[in-house]
Amino acid sequence: MKIILSILVCLSLQMCSQVKQPEKSTSMENSTTKNNPYYSRTDRTKLNVPNSEWKKILPADVYAVAREAATERPGTGKYNVYDEKGDYYCAVCGNHLFRSDAKFASTCGWPSFFEADKEGTAYKRDSSYGMERIEVLCKRCDSHLGHVFNDGPAPTGTRYCMNSVSLEFVGDSEKAAK
Ligand SMILES: [Zn+2]
Repeated sequence: MKIILSILVCLSLQMCSQVKQPEKSTSMENSTTKNNPYYSRTDRTKLNVPNSEWKKILPADVYAVAREAATERPGTGKYNVYDEKGDYYCAVCGNHLFRSDAKFASTCGWPSFFEADKEGTAYKRDSSYGMERIEVLCKRCDSHLGHVFNDGPAPTGTRYCMNSVSLEFVGDSEKAAK
């Protein structure tokens, strides 16, 4: 009898933990998007939000890179060495930017892609720090993502060198679970 009872207790505990798991992952996923009324993965309408407003909404590291064009230290970004299947969205507004199929193992220290979502990205000449570069911005919210160079691999020869902190990854398995 005791054995049956303990099995029952075990089973019910397991069921409880199984029920709780989805809650956990949902709250983690929303950690960067909490209190952000502009965030959407489907709405591509151009945003015109001043930095004073973004500063109140975004975590400090995201604000520094995305809104003040800071660069994360090479080799430190969470997506630098990362090859899960899924999509990369703007960490500020949720706009779709890259597909994992276009990501390649670059040695530059930042996550790199050979192709971007043309509807998601915009470009601007950047002559800062004595260099001529092309800055990549989110087309929807104008956040700084990184730079684009012409030394990438086939088939495009393009290298989108991005800051992990400006990106938010959503895996295919996560999407299927919803
Ligand atoms: Zn954006």
